[in-house]
Amino acid sequence: MKQFDYLVVGSGLFGAVFAQQAKAAGRKVLVIDKRPNIAGNVYTQEQEGIHVHIYGAHIFHTNDKTVWDYVNRFAVFNRFTNSPVANYHGELYSLPFNMYTFNRMWGVVTPQEAAEKIEQQRQAAGISEPKNLEEQAISLVGTDIYEKLIKGYTQKQWGRPCTELPAFIIRRLPVRLTFDNNYFNALYQGIPVGGYTRLVANMLDGIEVRLSQDYLKDKAQWDALADKVIYTGPIDAYFGYRLGNLEYRSVRFETETLDIPNYQGNAAVNYTDAETPWTRIIEHKWFEFGKDADGKDIPKTIISREYSSEWKPGDEPYYPVNDEKNGKLYARYKELASAEKNIVFGGRLGEYKYYDMDAVIAAALRSWQQTAGE
Ligand code: FAD
Ligand code: UDP
Repeated sequence: MKQFDYLVVGSGLFGAVFAQQAKAAGRKVLVIDKRPNIAGNVYTQEQEGIHVHIYGAHIFHTNDKTVWDYVNRFAVFNRFTNSPVANYHGELYSLPFNMYTFNRMWGVVTPQEAAEKIEQQRQAAGISEPKNLEEQAISLVGTDIYEKLIKGYTQKQWGRPCTELPAFIIRRLPVRLTFDNNYFNALYQGIPVGGYTRLVANMLDGIEVRLSQDYLKDKAQWDALADKVIYTGPIDAYFGYRLGNLEYRSVRFETETLDIPNYQGNAAVNYTDAETPWTRIIEHKWFEFGKDADGKDIPKTIISREYSSEWKPGDEPYYPVNDEKNGKLYARYKELASAEKNIVFGGRLGEYKYYDMDAVIAAALRSWQQTAGE
């Protein structure tokens, strides 16, 4: 008999959800993480009464009622709606592309006028079948919006010109002929009151967690503790990179505390010109309406400038590059993984997949169902 039924490697959302489900079913669970804190990439740290999103801004949004009901068991979600502002050389535009954007860009007032303007620009560009991101963007919103709000931002974010990027990337963004600044089309949206760390801590309530422990450094010892391992670290690292390493896009954050109450008046401002070196600035306090835990206005503010960069070994992995080359390499690692005994690979790094939070939670709930049924 081993000491634990499950060893969960990684206390991010995948690991925390799996552990919570296993504990609720009466299993003995140990969670470890190589970081000194729980919560993986959704980790928030309290500074000056503000929950700072240390690994990038996270807005919870979902259409999945089961996932929404599940997370609401562990936190109260506020009414935050993501409405980023675009700053193009000091001109401010509403995002995603909607009637406020079209009015500011062209002075059009009705949806018909906006639709006509877009159609004129699309026809002038002579695009019938968009072949890349540039052509797709122009055919969706016209040349002016492409030039001011898409071209520079996308080039900075992906490190490649829009003509060399796939069209589908821009189709993630809604285009609306209504006055609706909600960046997402999801039915449910919000930020957990008290921060994401508290949400994850509530999931892990009553479960033993050991931090600053690298599973791969002492694998045999950890394996001896549990019947089954749930591994949410990078799949290529598990196999000692023996087939080569999978690539990521990385992000660097420069965070500053300012002695003023309001820097930009919004949680996210995108800098859409090509010249500003950062892609966007996050002002963390606005995810919770500028109030502290007692509902008082916070006198200071904390901002993070985001710089997008090519990932190199040693950097924090952020976005899996789900292109053909990496897809093929991942498929080979996946084959190795399926030959391993008593281990489940899960989450963003274990499955090398760009999962939103709701999708990773749904995947962990499914994974628990499957594992429990074995
Ligand atoms: P992670 O959170 O990465 O957790 C993995 C854990 O495993 C980490 O804590 C790591 O330290 C640990 N670990 C790894 N290797 C080892 C080891 N050898 N030993 C011990 N521990 C180990 N989603 C949204 O829905 N909305 C958003 O607004 C949003 N914004 C995002 C912004 C950015 C910049 C990024 C990168 C992602 C964003 N996401 C967003 C996606 C979201 O972050 C993920 O869906 C989610 O955090 C994935 O959880 P996970 O448990 O799979 O991985
Ligand atoms: N995008 C843009 N201008 C903006 C915001 C987004 O051109 O102000 C483009 C960019 O190409 C980005 C894509 O729209 O990659 C999708 O945006 P989203 O915010 O969904 O990207 P994420 O950061 O979530 O990957």
